[in-house]
Amino acid sequence: MTTRLKPVDAVIIGFGWSGALLAEVLSRAGLSVIALERGPYRDTAEDFPPSRAPDELRYAVRHDLVVKPAENTITFRNRSDQTALPVRAWGSFLPASGAGGGGVHWNGQTWRFRPSDFTLKTTILERYGRRFLPPDLTIQDWGVTYETLEPYYDRFEYLCGISGKSGNLQGKIQPGGNPFEGPRARDYPTPPLTMPYAAALFAKAAAEGGYHPFPQPSANLSQAYTNPFGVTLGACSYCGFCERFGCGNYAKASPQTTLMPLLRRRPNFSLRTECLVLAINHDGGGKKARGVTYKDASGEDFFQPAGIVLLAAYTFENIRLLLLSGIGAPYDPASGRGVVGRNYSYQTTSSVQLGFAERLLNPFIGAGALGMIVDDWNGEHYDHGPLGFIGGAYLAALATNSRPILNHPTPPGTPRWGAEWKRAVAKSYLRTTRILASGSSLSHRGAYCDLDPTYRDRFGRPLLRVTFDFHPNDLRMSHFVTDRLAEIARAMGPEWLTIAKRQAPYSIVPYQSTHNVGGAIMGTDPETSVVNPYLQSWDCDNLFVVGASAFPQNASYNPTGTVAALALRTADAIIGRYLRAPGSLA
Ligand SMILES: Cc1cc2nc3c(=O)[nH]c(=O)nc-3n(C[C@H](O)[C@H](O)[C@H](O)COP(=O)(O)OP(=O)(O)OC[C@H]3O[C@@H](n4cnc5c(N)ncnc54)[C@H](O)[C@@H]3O)c2cc1C
Ligand code: SF4
Repeated sequence: MTTRLKPVDAVIIGFGWSGALLAEVLSRAGLSVIALERGPYRDTAEDFPPSRAPDELRYAVRHDLVVKPAENTITFRNRSDQTALPVRAWGSFLPASGAGGGGVHWNGQTWRFRPSDFTLKTTILERYGRRFLPPDLTIQDWGVTYETLEPYYDRFEYLCGISGKSGNLQGKIQPGGNPFEGPRARDYPTPPLTMPYAAALFAKAAAEGGYHPFPQPSANLSQAYTNPFGVTLGACSYCGFCERFGCGNYAKASPQTTLMPLLRRRPNFSLRTECLVLAINHDGGGKKARGVTYKDASGEDFFQPAGIVLLAAYTFENIRLLLLSGIGAPYDPASGRGVVGRNYSYQTTSSVQLGFAERLLNPFIGAGALGMIVDDWNGEHYDHGPLGFIGGAYLAALATNSRPILNHPTPPGTPRWGAEWKRAVAKSYLRTTRILASGSSLSHRGAYCDLDPTYRDRFGRPLLRVTFDFHPNDLRMSHFVTDRLAEIARAMGPEWLTIAKRQAPYSIVPYQSTHNVGGAIMGTDPETSVVNPYLQSWDCDNLFVVGASAFPQNASYNPTGTVAALALRTADAIIGRYLRAPGSLA
C-alpha cells in the first residue's frame, strides 16, 4: 500500500550540491520544500572526526560513501552491438549515496567553464567550417552564455570560500592567475593554498617553457572563512585524505559545511534520508508532474504530492528516472531521434609519472584540489586547424593523495612483487609524482544511455545501460596534449618517467573520474534537448532536471562549479518567474 502524504510546494529528488542549492533558494523564498535522499545522513562531527576520517580501507578502497552496486548500479558496454554487463564493483566512477552526495567525497577542484565552452558548436563552425566537424559528433551550444552564468559562479564560489587567484578581473589579465579564463566580477574569496614541492617544480618548468601556470581553484580552504550566510569553514591541514573522504576539519566545502546549518533552522524545509525515489508521478501524458513515489528504509511506499518536482539525483539517476517515469522521448541511436539518454559524455584523461633520484617530494602532504595548472592547450584560444581535433585539456600537477594502501610508485621494469618491489617502493615513495591532462569529451552518436533490456535492480526496475567509447577526435586531442605534458615532465628533470596515454576502448575498471555528463541535456530546441536553458523539462513544465545531465558535451574541467551555477540560475528562475507565471520559461 502507498501512503499519500500532505502536498508540498516543491520536492527535490537527491540531496547533493544540486539538491542543497535548490533547497536553500526555494526555502528562503518561503516555499515548503522536502528533499528525498536515498542514502543516510552524515555530518562532520559525528561521521568524519579527524580520528576516524582518514580510514583508507573504509573510504578509498571499500567506498563507504558510494552507492553499493547491490543497491543501484549501471550496465556498461562500449558499442551498441555488444551486450552490456552490470558493474558489480565500482571502478571508473564513484557515484554518491548519502546527504551531501558527491559534495562530501569530492576533491573540491572548482572550475568555471570558459566562454567558448558554452558556444562550442557555433565557435567551431565559424572558425573552421562544417567540414572540420566529424559528422557523428553531436555537440551543441548550451543555450546559455558564460556572461549569464558569471554571477551564479560567483555566488557559489563565495558560498564555499573557494581558494584561488583570478586571471581575468573584469577583463584585465592578472599576473599569477589563469589568463585564459572568462572575465570575473571579483577575485576568489580566499587566497590560493600553499603549493607543495612537486607542483612548484611543475610550475617552474612550465613557466620556463612559456606557459602560464596558476593555482588550482580549490574548495579545500587556505584559511578559515565565513560565508554570506554566516557559516564558518576551517582551514585545510593538507591531510591528503580528501578525495573519497569526508573532511574532519570543516575545511572542504560541502552541502553540510556551507548550507546545512542554515537549512536545519528553516521550518519549511525538511530532508528525509534513506528514502529512495522510484518514479515521478505525472498526469499520464507526462505533461504535468504530480509528485513522486518513494520507498523509505522500512520498505514502506509513499506518494509525496508536490507543485514542482526537482530531479537532482546525479546524471545516471536523472536519466533513469525520466525513462522509468515515461517523461520525454527516449533517444534512438539508429535514427538519431529522441532526446532522453542522448549526448552522454565523459572526460578524457592521461598522465605522466616521474621519479627523481634525490628530490624528496613528500607526497603525503596533499589535498583534494591542491596544485598548479596550465591552461594553454585548453579550449579554443589556439589554432586547432593544423592539429585536426576539437577540444583541449588542462595540464596539472595535483598533490591529491599518496595514501599507503593504493599508492606504491615504482620505476619502469620493477618486478610487481617480492623483495625487489619492496625496495623500489621504499625508495620511490617520497621521490615520485604524477602529472596529468584532463581533457574534454565530445558527445557523439554512439554514446548514450537507455534502459537495460536484461538487468534489473532489487525492485525489478531496469538498470540504466551506458554505451560509451572515446571518439577518435578525443583520442587525437588527448595524445597531442599528453605529448605537451611529457615535455614539461622532462623539463622537471626526473630520473625516469612513464607516459600513460589514453587508449580506446574505454575501460570501466580503473578509476578515471566521476564526471558523467549529458543524457538530459539543455538546449534551445526540444527536438535535440530534454530541458530548456532553465533546466525545465520541455515536456512537463513543473519538472526541472538539475545536474551535469544537462551538459550537451563535456569541457575539460571538473563539472561541479558549472553544475552549481546552473542550479542557482534554475532556482532563481523558479522564484522570480515560474511562480508568478507558471508555464514554459523558454
Ligand atoms: C571521488 C570524486 C571526486 C570528485 N571530485 C570533483 C572535483 O574535484 N571537482 C568537481 O567539479 N567535481 C568533482 N566530482 C564530481 C562531483 O562530486 C559532482 O559533480 C557533484 O557531486 C554533482 O552534484 P549533484 O548534486 O548533481 O549529484 P550528487 O552529488 O551525486 O547528488 C545526487 C544525490 O542524489 C541521490 N539519489 C540518487 N538517486 C536517488 C533516488 N532515486 N532517490 C533519492 N535520492 C537519490 C544520491 O544518493 C546523491 O546523494 C567528484 C566526484 C567524485 C565521486
Ligand atoms: S585535505 Fe584539507 S580539505 Fe581535504 S580532508 Fe584534509 S583537511 Fe579537509
